[in-house]
Amino acid sequence: MKQNYDVVVIGAGPAGATLAYELGKKGIGVLVLEKEKLPRYKCCAGGVTSKAANLLDFDISAVAEDVICEVAFTFNLGNPFLGQHSEPLIYTVMRDVFDHFLMQRAQRLGAMLMDGKRVTQIQLGGDSVEISTADSTFRSRLVVGADGAYSIVARELSMNRGIEYITAIESEIVVAEDDLAKWKSRVRIDLGVIPGGYAWVFPKRGQLSIGAGCRASRARHLNRNYQKFLNSLSIGNYTIARSGSHLIPTCTEGRLVWQDRALLLGDAAGLTDPLTGEGIYNAIRSAQLAAPVIENYLTGAAGGLQDYQQIVDKKIITELRMARTLAKYFIRFPRLVFRILSKSDRVWRAERKVILGETDYAAVNEEVGGLKGILGQLLRL
Ligand SMILES: Cc1cc2nc3c(=O)[nH]c(=O)nc-3n(C[C@H](O)[C@H](O)[C@H](O)COP(=O)(O)OP(=O)(O)OC[C@H]3O[C@@H](n4cnc5c(N)ncnc54)[C@H](O)[C@@H]3O)c2cc1C
Repeated sequence: MKQNYDVVVIGAGPAGATLAYELGKKGIGVLVLEKEKLPRYKCCAGGVTSKAANLLDFDISAVAEDVICEVAFTFNLGNPFLGQHSEPLIYTVMRDVFDHFLMQRAQRLGAMLMDGKRVTQIQLGGDSVEISTADSTFRSRLVVGADGAYSIVARELSMNRGIEYITAIESEIVVAEDDLAKWKSRVRIDLGVIPGGYAWVFPKRGQLSIGAGCRASRARHLNRNYQKFLNSLSIGNYTIARSGSHLIPTCTEGRLVWQDRALLLGDAAGLTDPLTGEGIYNAIRSAQLAAPVIENYLTGAAGGLQDYQQIVDKKIITELRMARTLAKYFIRFPRLVFRILSKSDRVWRAERKVILGETDYAAVNEEVGGLKGILGQLLRL
């Protein structure tokens, strides 16, 4: 027997959980289908920037593993430049705990979760959409793909064009207390060791999330270079609790995030930042932008969901375009970017403001003077 709903959301990551929460606030009940049993592990450094945390109207400190006030940038394992701030820049989280926390907030507002339910098929019809799992079929007025980088919604509805990928690997590394203490409140970013990308250390309560990522087209030696980075950290005895790799999708021009009765959010829409790989911010943001569009559609105030495309283009994709331009400088000239960063306070000040959500990439580009400004800095150096 088919079960009928107004909204079915696929995926209970930050995008799906936030949408369920936002619609719950409006009194709209949703069904969330999640293929894993919650809480589920997600391969992720778990850095929630202050700007991402500030999007939420509740406090996340209960699930924060550490609060980051310092970023140690290095070039090819050399001496660090320390970017500091007196206020939190980033909260680190374990994604199983964080995502479950977000989902529980939504459930309190009436969202219904069915976990351990993998969606296998989506069929758009004239007045509804049918969503199938191995043992059930659900009928809904609309479907939301919040199902991550390998989105079945995007695939089934042929909305998976206009995406480029970053390949990322990460290990959760359990280290001794004294090793852990060295990383307290500090993340490390190395710009040179991974051609076409970067490597990182994000501290958690009992472990370090150590990873690396680069453009998928340049990932041939990613594992070898990651190992080099890991060895350079001089960590004493450690055990690898978990290790994995995952794609990070970033959209290119003309990305379709809406079609008929379907919307895509977060990674399913390819909304990660091509410069940093940050995806939690736009997962939450896209959900918050989708909620009023869905409300208008369900109440009849709007005839369709097309406004979502316009608003995502304006508020997110334009910004990602600028990040893509900046990413090109970082990828091509990591040594020079590092030199500029370490010699001029302007770049760190601008980067810090982006992390805090006080400015955007367009303003940063202006602040550093665009390509002309960067070339000028290079010549001076
Ligand atoms: C190694 C690595 C490090 C990263 N570090 C950071 C970081 O520090 N900070 C940051 O902001 N971003 C980071 N990211 C990116 C971030 O993880 C993603 O952008 C973010 O998880 C996107 O959230 P989402 O809700 O869109 O998708 P996801 O978090 O991927 O959630 C999608 C959900 O959908 C479920 N699902 C998938 N298919 C189906 C199906 N067929 N049926 C039902 N359910 C399904 C999945 O099980 C999952 O729970 C990192 C990514 C990687 C790979």
